[in-house]
Amino acid sequence: MNAPVTAFAHSTVFEDESFSDHEQIVFCHDKPSGLKAIIALHSTQLGPAMGGTRMWDYQASHQALTDVLRLSRGMTYKNAVAGIPFGGGKAVILGDPETGKSEALLEAFGRCVEGLAGRYITAEDVGISAGDMETVSTMTRFARGTRAKGLGDPSPYTALGVYIGILATVEARFGRSDITNMTFAVQGLGSVGYGVARHLHEAGGRLIVADINADAVSRAVSEFGATAVSTDRIHAVASDVFVPCALGAGLNETTIPQIRAGAVAGAANNQLARPEDGQRLQDREILYAPDYVLNAGGVISIALGTPDFGADPVLERIQAISRTLGKIFDQSGKTGSPPVIIADQMAERIVSGQINAQ
Ligand code: NAD
Repeated sequence: MNAPVTAFAHSTVFEDESFSDHEQIVFCHDKPSGLKAIIALHSTQLGPAMGGTRMWDYQASHQALTDVLRLSRGMTYKNAVAGIPFGGGKAVILGDPETGKSEALLEAFGRCVEGLAGRYITAEDVGISAGDMETVSTMTRFARGTRAKGLGDPSPYTALGVYIGILATVEARFGRSDITNMTFAVQGLGSVGYGVARHLHEAGGRLIVADINADAVSRAVSEFGATAVSTDRIHAVASDVFVPCALGAGLNETTIPQIRAGAVAGAANNQLARPEDGQRLQDREILYAPDYVLNAGGVISIALGTPDFGADPVLERIQAISRTLGKIFDQSGKTGSPPVIIADQMAERIVSGQINAQ
């Protein structure tokens, strides 16, 4: 008698809970370089799927699959609401970005992207630098975020968009058009968070900051006169706006009751741990600016920034983040639905051609 088939301990592709009608999922393997990567094209409805490549030391390949499915769907929403003619896609390379990266691996990944013949356009993300993208771009015409094919590092554009989004959030929540002497609690002072802190400081805001990197904190204290607090307290300090610019899932059933800000608006991707956290914030009268609306400046710079046309079309689209957020807050006020629900509905209606982006 045959042995009974052992049930899989985890789901397979189409059963994965993050699978959401993705158009195409490509598994890439290159034995000589050790490349293992997954590229997910969620939607090409509005144009080629665009989204960065993440390199991460996943414990198991099904975690990488879940991540790329979730992230690529998020890119469809982000790109749609940002009003750029691109669909949503994302790639993940499985491996430690500190020790597992080589020129051969990045080149092999570039060949994989090229094989999709332009249906997917990539750029840098967590674990992949602008320099890495230069290497990838030696093998494919479809790598962006490099100086040769764009404006380079997208982080300053993300920071600008987040700052513009914070101003729109302040206006909606506090009815104020300037931020002089308002207090902002910035969590994470990396490429984006430090830039956001600089904009806020230059506009007269007061800063409370936290980062696990003590050097970044010291710089912000001396350069911006910021007050430093520990990383486990930053979300709970008294402030006007909590500005998450570190990791995702920071807004959850534990942290939300502790928040003492009137609004949350920051750069981090996937800030809400669970969909119901949008309602939790709303119940506490904390105005939440949906992360993917606010942090689209980077992908806008990658999509629209070319050496020929420079940054003007990019800056124009980034300014529109303010208008889009205003509309989302307005609809939220009228319907009583949390802003994140309104943003998702807006994205879905743009993708299905029912409305145009702002
Ligand atoms: P980064 O790695 O440069 O910065 C992250 C910072 O957060 C680092 O300084 C790190 O030390 C700090 N940090 C980590 N854990 C922390 C904790 N528990 N408490 C406080 N600080 C902590 O990354 P980044 O490019 O600045 O991106 C920040 C966030 O914005 C990420 O969630 C990223 O996905 C998102 N984002 C970035 C861009 C972009 O253009 N770089 C675009 C869209 C979204």
